[in-house]
Formats: sequence, structure tokens, C-alpha cells
Amino acid sequence: MTLLSVQGLHKSFGGVVAARDVAFTVERGEMLAIIGPNGAGKSTVFNMVGGQLRPDQGRVLLDGQDITAASPQKRFRRGVGRTFQVAQTFLSMSAAENVQMALISCHRNSNGLWTPARERHRDKALELLSQVGMAEAADAPCSSLAYGDVKRVELAIALAGQPKLLLMDEPTAGMAPRERAALMDLTASIAASQGIGVLFTEHDMDVVFGHAARVLVLLRGQIIAAGTPDEIRQNEQVRCAYLGD
Ligand code: ADP
Ligand code: MG
Repeated sequence: MTLLSVQGLHKSFGGVVAARDVAFTVERGEMLAIIGPNGAGKSTVFNMVGGQLRPDQGRVLLDGQDITAASPQKRFRRGVGRTFQVAQTFLSMSAAENVQMALISCHRNSNGLWTPARERHRDKALELLSQVGMAEAADAPCSSLAYGDVKRVELAIALAGQPKLLLMDEPTAGMAPRERAALMDLTASIAASQGIGVLFTEHDMDVVFGHAARVLVLLRGQIIAAGTPDEIRQNEQVRCAYLGD
């Protein structure tokens, strides 16, 4: 079954139509990029999938279940994870503690009390850090890590929620080109091996064309093209409207 199905999403802000009849799917293990110029509606679509914004019309289905009206917290519990454009780690804490915090917040019991299984969480945190290549830095404060390594810790934090779908808003912003490719290679291999669908926005076209299986192009709230990186690169309308040649 399709992991994410977005159907006929519409959102306007006053007179501005930020999303118009937006429809697409994401399959398990697939990396789907949404590109488009500033103001195209990327964040609006992203936030309607994450639950931060309610659409005026349309539906969002995860694993066939309608989550259109679900809060971000409820979507998170259903398997919609998210990384953020600005580093969200607690810099004074170690990488492992950051991941442990994420694991603890995912394991609230029904009374709303924290489950005290800290040791188990440490083992799981170390496992997640090793998946992102950060096992050796587990006990280093995040403030001492290079920016690219903080982004890896953020990925481990997102994986702590055992997402089925991972939303990444400009995951490589602020990184050097070589680090960008490494982070996206890592993300793609984790997504493929764990069957996680990844929906991401990105300005760097090398990252988009090098790592997305499919690309959606948004312009003024509408999808003007969708296809493989090769199809998008060769699309005349996209070249004129967005790629600038
Ligand atoms: P992108 O992420 O592609 O840059 P956005 O989704 O942020 O685009 O914005 C799409 C359009 O909707 C823009 O014209 C923007 O000004 C408008 N918009 C977005 N969010 C709001 C809001 N909360 N209130 C009013 N207008 C908004
Ligand atoms: Mg945006």
C-alpha cells in the first residue's frame, strides 16, 4: 500500500493561493523532493503533511488512514517524523543524551509519566548514533561537533521516533557541498534499508537530482511537473520557470 497519499490539497491565505489541487504519493523507501522558487508553496504543502497547517480542501492519507485532521503530535505517533531547518539539538548535552531525550519523549506511558528505562534508551541511542556514523562522538557535547555532524545527530533524533515517513525541510542548508552529498547518501541508504519514505525540500539542485527518486516542481501553489530527475531536467516548462535556462 502507498505510504503517503496527498489528494487535492488546497490552501489560501487571504487572497493568496499557496496550494492549489496538490496531489502526490510517497512510497516506502522512496525519496521525493519538492522544489520551486521562493513563495511557490513548498512549506505550505510540507506543513499540511506534518499537521502544522490544516488544508482548506483535500486529504492526507498515511498507510490508507485519513490523517487530515490529526494534530502534529498524533501524526508523529502514527509515524510522521520531521527534521528542522535550524539545528534543534540541545547543544550543551551530548549526542547520546540528545537521542536519549528523543527516545524518552517517544516512550511516555499512558499516565503521562516518563518511562525510567534510561539504560535501555542509552543502548538504543548508541545504536541510532552508529547508524548515522556518530557512535564515536556519542559522549561529546553537541556544541563541540562540526555542523555536518550535528545534522547527523538530528537524523538520529528523527529516527528515534521510528518514522514511516520523514519530512526534511532543506536538510542540507548551511552545509558544505561535500557534506551535503554525504548526509543525503546516508539518508537515502537508511530510507531504503528501513523502508522509510522521505519527503524533502531543497535548494541545492545537485542534491535534488543526485538523491531524489522523483521530483515535484511547484509554482504559485501548483504542481507544474513531476517525474524522475532526468525527466525534470529535460522539462522545458521547468527550465524556463525555475531552472533558469
Ligand atoms: P515556499 O516554502 O515555497 O517558499 P510558502 O509555502 O512559504 O512558499 O508560501 C507560499 C505562499 O503563501 C507565499 O505567497 C506566502 O507569502 C504565502 N504564505 C505562506 N504562509 C502564509 C501565512 N501564514 N500567512 C499568509 N501568507 C502565507
Ligand atoms: Mg519555505
